Amino acid sequence: MLDRHLRGRDITDPEVLKVMGEVPREEFISQAYLSQAYCDGPVPIGMGQTISQPYIVALMSQELDVDGRCDVLEIGTGSGYQTAVLSKLARRVYTIERHHELSESAQAVLGRLGIGNVEFYIGDGSRGWPGERLFERIMVTAAVPVVPESLIDQLAEGGIMVAPEGPGGVQRLIALKKDKHKITERFICDVRFVKLLGEHGFEE
Ligand code: SAM
Repeated sequence: MLDRHLRGRDITDPEVLKVMGEVPREEFISQAYLSQAYCDGPVPIGMGQTISQPYIVALMSQELDVDGRCDVLEIGTGSGYQTAVLSKLARRVYTIERHHELSESAQAVLGRLGIGNVEFYIGDGSRGWPGERLFERIMVTAAVPVVPESLIDQLAEGGIMVAPEGPGGVQRLIALKKDKHKITERFICDVRFVKLLGEHGFEE
């Protein structure tokens, strides 16, 4: 997977490549789909959701430019695979999922893998992490119609957010940088994500 789907494309960050080689994707995939664990495609994880393809997980991690000083907010825990990858790059990961079944399963897998620097929250991630908190990095792993102000507000100065933005179907993956007086946006590539539902996402 590393050589064919990641190094063979544009994943060059050594830390991201190392972590992608360490996190066992098969742990996040049900028996029925195990043969697809290292194919470069999304795989169903229940509740009508999917675990993202390894290339996109690596690309979003690389674009987020995370290091061990960063607290990362992730919206859309899903299977917990991207969460596990982020946990090995960041100081701490705060992850929100609206389906308690998925969050609980992700918590169990990360527990089995001995990953202890992740906080889980079950609820509407389009509102951000409950309470007043700032994060150095934010990753949104479901498509937003437009990046919610609630998430921009929780991004620390100098922070980076990576999110798929646009209507259902094809979205633009963007990296948003928040500086003291301005927010700049950079287009990364076109992607296809399931929709982020909720108050500042798509309507259910
Ligand atoms: N990164 C995940 C992984 O590695 O398995 C895949 C994420 S999946 C593409 C998107 C997830 O976002 C789904 O689990 C979905 O239930 C969740 N989601 C959608 N709307 C949400 C919301 N408002 N708050 C929290 N999670 C949400």
